[in-house]
Amino acid sequence: MTMDRQDKIYVAGHRGLVGSAIIRRLKADGYENLVLRTSKELDLREQQAVRDFFAEEKPHYVILAAAKVGGILANDTLPAEFLYDNLMMEANVIHSSYRNGVKKLLALGSTCIYPKLAAQPLKEEYLLTGPLEPTNEWYAVAKIAGIKLCQAYRRQYGCNFIAAMPTNLYGPGDNFDLGASHVMPALMRKFHDAKLESRATVTVWGSGKPLREFLHVDDLADAGLFLLEHYNDDDIVNIGVGEDISIAELASIVRDVVGFEGEIVYDASKPDGTPRKLVDVSKISGLGWRAKIDLREGVAQTYQWFLENQTDLRGVC
Ligand code: GDP
Repeated sequence: MTMDRQDKIYVAGHRGLVGSAIIRRLKADGYENLVLRTSKELDLREQQAVRDFFAEEKPHYVILAAAKVGGILANDTLPAEFLYDNLMMEANVIHSSYRNGVKKLLALGSTCIYPKLAAQPLKEEYLLTGPLEPTNEWYAVAKIAGIKLCQAYRRQYGCNFIAAMPTNLYGPGDNFDLGASHVMPALMRKFHDAKLESRATVTVWGSGKPLREFLHVDDLADAGLFLLEHYNDDDIVNIGVGEDISIAELASIVRDVVGFEGEIVYDASKPDGTPRKLVDVSKISGLGWRAKIDLREGVAQTYQWFLENQTDLRGVC
């Protein structure tokens, strides 16, 4: 399936980390017929509002990048919001896409859908083979429902709805609020503030031992468009780099990039979360896609963006 430059594309969640990267990429590729609504203009949790919006706009393609997201702390403390908001957004957007004849829909999930103790690297087929990581099970259950909605609408109605699972993301547009952010922007902000205030130490949560994989959002946008062009199946597809590093190694990279010269201390009272999260990328590699942005370069580019935009940073999305 080839998207035409004139096709109307609705990117839900275009102000978030993922959505904004997809918009940058679509615009760079010459797609101009983009339909965008902020969450204030269109509350995706409201069924009637979503119905009216789809009936009026009739998009050809839908990229579902809207979600209630957050790091380990936010997920653990706002379970009802993480479950309800995400379920409602997915159900409304997917059902309206079906009702309005959307040609193809790409739903973006997360690798936290995989069981906490699944073998690594995480293969797509491990979905629903064991219990989830308790600190983010609310979000994970909602995202699994999103996958199942895509599969159900394909099976029952023949809709070409696909679902992709990106690994931990970072990049311009991330959430740098310490109460809600993921580890990468949190560390960037902590090292940055500590450098400015000439502090002796920076505290990193947990043991520093958990392993995580980090994908730049521009790579994700590239993969998303690749899948829209080349993938038409009901199985989920992982999007990752295929390599992980420890939180301690990440902290040291971010410290170098920011230029903080003090010590790192670990706060064992904060949770580690799942011990390792690395995706198996053989499926998407087999289709012909791979990540291109080197981690250190990506961190440096993101820090540059942070420096230029810190007065204008968003809170929890
Ligand atoms: P996760 O990948 O779903 O566990 O979410 P996070 O990105 O929030 O956390 C990843 C890992 O980084 C966990 O082991 C955290 O304990 C650790 N971590 C270390 N320092 C921080 C921090 O300042 N903020 C966050 N969010 N995580 C941190």
